[in-house]
Amino acid sequence: MTHLLHRTIHTPPRKAVSASGIHFTDAAGKQYIDASGGAAVSCLGHAHPDVLAALHAQLDRLAYAHTGFFTSDVAEELADTLIASAPAGLSHAYLVSGGSEAVEAALKMARQYFTETGQPQRRHIIARRQSYHGNTLGALATGGNEWRRAQFRPLLMQAHHIAPCYAYRDQRAGETDADYALRAAGELEAKILELGPDTVAAFVAEPVVGATAGAVPAVGDYFKHIRAICDRYGVLLILDEVMCGMGRTGSLYACEQDGIAPDLLTIAKGLGGGYQPIGATLLSRKIYDAFANGSGFFQHGHTYMGHPMAAAAGLAVQKVIARDNLLANVQDMGAVLRENLQSAFGQHPHIGDIRGRGLFQAIELVADRDSKAPFDPARKIHAHIKREAMERGLMVYPMGGTIDGVQGDHVLLAPPFIVTKADLADITQRLSDAV
Ligand code: PMP
Repeated sequence: MTHLLHRTIHTPPRKAVSASGIHFTDAAGKQYIDASGGAAVSCLGHAHPDVLAALHAQLDRLAYAHTGFFTSDVAEELADTLIASAPAGLSHAYLVSGGSEAVEAALKMARQYFTETGQPQRRHIIARRQSYHGNTLGALATGGNEWRRAQFRPLLMQAHHIAPCYAYRDQRAGETDADYALRAAGELEAKILELGPDTVAAFVAEPVVGATAGAVPAVGDYFKHIRAICDRYGVLLILDEVMCGMGRTGSLYACEQDGIAPDLLTIAKGLGGGYQPIGATLLSRKIYDAFANGSGFFQHGHTYMGHPMAAAAGLAVQKVIARDNLLANVQDMGAVLRENLQSAFGQHPHIGDIRGRGLFQAIELVADRDSKAPFDPARKIHAHIKREAMERGLMVYPMGGTIDGVQGDHVLLAPPFIVTKADLADITQRLSDAV
């Protein structure tokens, strides 16, 4: 008996006692391969010696400093490191403690940008039905999954939702990628016109949709069209790379592969690699200038923002990724993982789609391959797969069933960047057995 409240009240999770490299060990001594990085968090695996050394040194030097009094060298160095390779135009990083906080900061920066520039009527937020942006009330309203929101209506904030770019489900027979990208992006323009262009503050999207949909990238020039539409109507573009960012898809920032830069960009998860809770909101020069030349203040903050321990973890993770050229390994091993999934599941009668970028890959399960009919949500196929995988010592990240905008069940794989070909063969075999 414990007084710790588990989210799954009647089926508490197993108890982990240690983790090293890509393996967890539980209280019974059983080992698990971490093929999901938790929730796409553990990019360097567990107990990485360089990160541990950096954390020990930081703990001895300076564990905590409230940002109302002090900045720190690690927080500034991490911000400089992130901005040095960030998409064009992003000029500053705001350090918080996780993904939801990063999204909240981005939403508030967007709103404050318009009050500082004399357009307070621009307050609508548009997002996509197939999305997850966090669990705090603003982020919850922004995300597309209704089942997470249902118990909390009326919401404090109202966001507006459009269809995602989801080729497997929505691209029509005979429609080219170029035409589909244009059609899907057109949803945003239609929504902006419906709401009234001068009332819209921002559009929020994940470049590669993670938790709600299983590694769904956009097709063709979708995000270039989205960027152009935002520019045409003066709407800020917020990209949420909390899950897909920080190297997960093979480039440090996922949107590099879409050839665009946002006005605001959120990161977390892989930023701290699980060693510390950390998130960041990167903002463009235009937003920074509006604050700097206006009130001189960002009207938002948290007690643990810019935490030196978290910054030290983030900095150490970034240094290892650069030194060990791990983005190349994400690209190479991502291709191996995709081939493995293709040969294990390419002909499987209940796998309808295999998709993703880099070490962010997923399979989508269907009751019928030809019609793409999903399984009855009541069967909770994703939950069965998770349990069967855990029995076989494999951690994967299945989701699905009733999430709004997602038709079925999927299994997401996001192993650490240090994964090898032999590890991936083992992961694929265990997943195949579990499925
Ligand atoms: N945005 C995205 C895209 C996410 O995947 C998540 C977490 N799954 C969040 C925001 C929220 O992050 P956190 O759980 O750290 O608050």
